Amino acid sequence: MKIETKCLHSGYAPKNTEPRVMPIVQSTTYVFDSTEDIGAVFDDPTKALIYSRFANPTVMAVEEKIAALESGAAAMCTSSGQAATLLSLLNVLKCGDSFISTTHIYGGTMNLFAFTLKKMGIECIFADPSASKGDILKAFKPNTKAVFGETLANPQLSVLDIEKFAAAAHEKGVPLIVDNTFATPILCRPIEFGADVVVHSTSKYMDGHALQVGGVIVDSGKFDWANGNFPDFTEPDESYHGISYTGTYGKLAYILKARMQLMRDFGAYPSAHSAFLLNLGLETLPVRMKQYCENAQIVAEYFAASDKIDAVVYPGLKDGANYALARKYLSGPSGIITIFVKGGKANAVKFMDSLKLASNEVHVCDIRTCVLHPASATHRQLTSGQLKAAGISDAQIRFSVGLENVEDILEDIAQALREI
Ligand SMILES: *Cc1c(COP(=O)(O)O)cnc(C)c1O
Repeated sequence: MKIETKCLHSGYAPKNTEPRVMPIVQSTTYVFDSTEDIGAVFDDPTKALIYSRFANPTVMAVEEKIAALESGAAAMCTSSGQAATLLSLLNVLKCGDSFISTTHIYGGTMNLFAFTLKKMGIECIFADPSASKGDILKAFKPNTKAVFGETLANPQLSVLDIEKFAAAAHEKGVPLIVDNTFATPILCRPIEFGADVVVHSTSKYMDGHALQVGGVIVDSGKFDWANGNFPDFTEPDESYHGISYTGTYGKLAYILKARMQLMRDFGAYPSAHSAFLLNLGLETLPVRMKQYCENAQIVAEYFAASDKIDAVVYPGLKDGANYALARKYLSGPSGIITIFVKGGKANAVKFMDSLKLASNEVHVCDIRTCVLHPASATHRQLTSGQLKAAGISDAQIRFSVGLENVEDILEDIAQALREI
């Protein structure tokens, strides 16, 4: 199936007389004929469902769909994008380990990496996204167990050179984990370029309608966890009656370990109703992404022509720094534009507060046009040094183009620019 067809048909295929629409199985638990039957499922949890803290039929249908969209082997949904990022890393790292991340990452991810994981004894080594493969290799320490980056960085909009980071990671025998939130599998499938694990905040384009927070981890099924660097995958797990994940589950070792250990213990699983709503978003994702790209290209060119704007970053602009990488990795530049307003913070804020149609909100990739000032919101907790490394300035606005008629969006921008 092509991707548009997968968005509608993967994950749920009703049989004779079953409901056309994926049903919501709103149940915490599942019944068994006997105690012995329950015991057997505890021996191998892939045999049946036990409890909705780590598996539910509605959520699993959506997981199967997202795995298909990302060209992955399997997926696990989480209650937020943050939970997806955290669990994707904790599945391979423990206290005393380190990992490499590019500096161009979402503000919440930056907090998680620079502060919270540090308190847990996990060190993040930051690397510039434009670093050469040689420099990335030099950043490795003996305890470095993963590499992390964002396909289309929030909010810098730099495009990750996935093949470069994958090559460096694989040379050291560790996985590349890619946050593909802004691109979505419609615009980029990182696994096809060598990523081993993909994470998403489904709260953004996938949900699409600003209805609910969610996340997902997709396992490519391709990484060799038995290469000697990951004994937790090969050695018996004493918390699971001595199971070896690679020995028992082969290609699905990563995602089943994440579900059986981490989801079991941390319980950041979405509800069936959340999965149902996410599925509605996924069904129309291809048509929406196409229109976002079309609207945003027009808006980006409008900003680029304005004398009130210092700079515009949008992967669809031909003279932009990211154009070549965008052409290689993305089938469209998405709906998010970063602008730098002349006159710094005062003018940036004046412009934002003068917008009438576009709303000022802590969200992005909404179906409605919205704006955010990263330095005073998502990246507010960062030090000035971290802001500089992350490429965030006071004059910067993240402009998330919606699906309104683009002429209405331009008219709103024009009147707000006049207020500066
Ligand atoms: C929003 C976002 C996250 C965090 O996702 P939540 O669903 O808000 O927890 C992670 N990565 C990126 C790129 C994001 O935009």
